[in-house]
Amino acid sequence: MPLDRTHPEIAFAMDAARQAGLLVKTIEQELVTPAMTKDDRSPVTVADYAAQAVVASMLQRAFPGDVLVAEEDSHALRSPENSETLETVTRFVGSALPHATPDTVCALIDRGGGEPADRFWTLDPIDGTKGFLRREQYAVALALIENGEVRIGALGCPNLTPGGVDEPGGPGSLLIVMRGEGCWVTPLNDPDAPLEQLTVSNIESLRDARVLRSAEAGHTNVSQLDQLLAHMGVTAGPVCMDSQAKYAMLAAGQGDLLFRLLSPSRPDYREMIWDQAAGSIVVEEAGGSVSDLDGKQLDFTAGRTLARNRGVVASNARLHELALDAIKTMGI
Ligand code: AMP
Ligand code: MG
Repeated sequence: MPLDRTHPEIAFAMDAARQAGLLVKTIEQELVTPAMTKDDRSPVTVADYAAQAVVASMLQRAFPGDVLVAEEDSHALRSPENSETLETVTRFVGSALPHATPDTVCALIDRGGGEPADRFWTLDPIDGTKGFLRREQYAVALALIENGEVRIGALGCPNLTPGGVDEPGGPGSLLIVMRGEGCWVTPLNDPDAPLEQLTVSNIESLRDARVLRSAEAGHTNVSQLDQLLAHMGVTAGPVCMDSQAKYAMLAAGQGDLLFRLLSPSRPDYREMIWDQAAGSIVVEEAGGSVSDLDGKQLDFTAGRTLARNRGVVASNARLHELALDAIKTMGI
């Protein structure tokens, strides 16, 4: 049975991820220019704040009592040297919320400073900031967590097609999931298009596995991953990609395994909940499996981080145990 798009939480999650996704795509197209210097991060700063303000405003309207735990706060944006950035953020937010002012925008952003509770939403307004600046893959990631379990996830991926193909400037995709109801996708740029169901691949041999990893070498352990893949007998090199678009690809059957190994410079790093909540339910509802490197379920009851988990392994389910065995054998 197709997902009920009129279910209030589903309708809100789809609307919010879509509006924020289309807004950040506009910001990417207008502000990320060839003239930009290599270390100018201002477009992604604008997009991050604007997307968070828009989602916070929509949440306030849809579920006024709900808590939002999001990545950004307005502290730096309020300082005088950032007044121009705040003006730009307000201008973009104004295209979605006509009466936005710098003050209301900052107040909306700070609605994301909630504490994880029995029921809360978590948001990464732009996951994959480097991908955004490269005009490659990035995502707006929104999820509802109830009693420590991800119940709903929405991923807006402006540069990924609904079939999970990298296509900057294409229609983009909006993935929407509710626990037990399957994984669904529709073009980001067409609110009237139907939902299509996504399922993971049926690859059963490690030799044929297509592996996904972060494009940022600092977010994983590249040499350890290469050794792991050699040990497993994987023949193709890993596909490097930013953001939870990797989970969307896995859900669409365009990849079979995904590893987040711990970076040698940050062995104590623990994942942020907004980096994993939407992505993990997307993969699970498409028929895949998600765990940490020790095979433990991701534990969303530990605050803003997955403090009780090390790294992440996601797969088409069929390859999961083989991957965990290899990780164990290699002492990772
Ligand atoms: P990816 O696009 O897969 O590289 O993941 C992006 C996310 O990685 C960002 O949203 C960061 O929150 C997160 N991140 C930051 N530092 C690290 C790290 N040392 N290890 C793993 N993830 C990180
Ligand atoms: Mg992120």
